[in-house]
Amino acid sequence: MCDIIGQAVRAGVPRRTILTSALGGLAALGAAACTGSNPPTGAPAAPAAAAPPAEGARTQLILLGTSGGPPYWPGSEREGIASALLVGDRYYVVDTGAGLLRQMRLAELGNWRHDTDGPLDGMRAIFLTHLHSDHVVDLNNLLTEGLFNGLHRVDRKVQIWGPGNRGALPPLFGAPPPPEPVAPDNPTPGTKEMVDLIVRAFATDFNDRAFDNRKPVPNQLFEGLDVPIPAQYLADPNGNPHPRMSPVRFYEDERVRVSATLVQHAPVFPALAFRFETEDGSVVFSGDTSPSENLIELAQGTDVLVHEVIARGWVERLLPAPRNDAQEGLFQHLINAHTVIEDVGGVAERAQARTLVLSHLVPGNWPADDWQRAKNGYSGTLVVGEDLDRIGVGTA
Ligand SMILES: [Zn+2]
Repeated sequence: MCDIIGQAVRAGVPRRTILTSALGGLAALGAAACTGSNPPTGAPAAPAAAAPPAEGARTQLILLGTSGGPPYWPGSEREGIASALLVGDRYYVVDTGAGLLRQMRLAELGNWRHDTDGPLDGMRAIFLTHLHSDHVVDLNNLLTEGLFNGLHRVDRKVQIWGPGNRGALPPLFGAPPPPEPVAPDNPTPGTKEMVDLIVRAFATDFNDRAFDNRKPVPNQLFEGLDVPIPAQYLADPNGNPHPRMSPVRFYEDERVRVSATLVQHAPVFPALAFRFETEDGSVVFSGDTSPSENLIELAQGTDVLVHEVIARGWVERLLPAPRNDAQEGLFQHLINAHTVIEDVGGVAERAQARTLVLSHLVPGNWPADDWQRAKNGYSGTLVVGEDLDRIGVGTA
């Protein structure tokens, strides 16, 4: 009988903390426990070092949600993938996974003067690495209920940046016939289109709030924009393997400069990684990717590399051989579109990243100790991310 919750309680309790230690709190035993398997042991990992303290730092990375994938992992309290980069009194959101608005409240972002003024009043821009649901599902929450959580008080229009329209359906895996495509007139909308479609989908609410509550209308508050990846890198809508390119700078304001590059997350394309430069240092977000030369170039010498990670042992247990077409497709996606624990330290080492922060943990309920194996092959500081961790930038 599966006893995920009981084992999680016995193993430890997830905690909200200002991060001064890289030690994770949750050791829930999830899917592996359900199958009767033991958690992996693997090679012993060197203990992770303390992360740069966040207290007093003007620029801070805040992990709002650290779980990867659409599942709500049993036994885990990790929220969906989302991060904030706080620079002074403004912040930038990277990915908008499930639970985001609540996590922003808990992180005490924004400038609260009244119950409905924050936390979004301090939000400057949103960056989406790719349009998988676990990275974007709460964007509509920010844009709609945001009207009553500070979005109506932003001092400039919030830009929402992400990949553009792919332009073609993904290749069919396995034998024909293909499934009936969803929205065949435009089956792969990009970020600008997605934001516009959210506004249209919630028009009843927006109009009610505007006419009855006299709230601003969406085009006064935010706009969706496609990251301008040069056309030659997007010529193949499947982009597998992703074309080699150097980073492209596409956003700049008085606090940050942001560059993007393509990463390897096939069959999803385009999928992006972002680098933020501030006066205090730099932070790179990998998005979802297998080891990528583009990412390694983007992340060269960065202060903080926030990188996704997946436990290969979990994938093998989830989808044991022999596999049917659908199972094989998912198995290949999980292994080839993500970075396994054994590889992520090497990526950070080659990028010469000073601190490696693991986030977008798949599965979210994997034993905490096993993530520590990412330390192998990496000489910098490893942080296994927990929700609401804060990491100072440029204060190490
Ligand atoms: Zn993804």
